[in-house]
Amino acid sequence: MERYVEARDIDRAEVARRAGSAGGEFFAFRCATCGHVYLGEADADRKLRAYPNPADMTENRAVLDDWLVCVGCSAYVEAAAIEAARRGDPVAEPWRVLWNEMVVGRWAWVLRGAAVPLPPWQE
Ligand SMILES: [Zn+2]
Repeated sequence: MERYVEARDIDRAEVARRAGSAGGEFFAFRCATCGHVYLGEADADRKLRAYPNPADMTENRAVLDDWLVCVGCSAYVEAAAIEAARRGDPVAEPWRVLWNEMVVGRWAWVLRGAAVPLPPWQE
């Protein structure tokens, strides 16, 4: 069974520290066209923000007009798809990020316990 990154996997304190904000709810999603991985943030009003660059959290953008233009391929990523990925909706599978991929990528630092990753079955 595929193990996706869930909101509970995200090290909120570390993300907030690097982003310089108190932070809302953080989650991972990807562009279904090119696979570029983003960290998403939903504030209390469910407004979405996208962080495209794991090396620079000051680089981020609000998801306005119901879509995000992918920094990787310029495809439109619909806000509804990002929101579904946040909820873990099964229909959002193409926009969700696998834990195994994220833990070996440049976003690994956002995962709680990423330095010593536990296999999902040991959680
Ligand atoms: Zn893309």
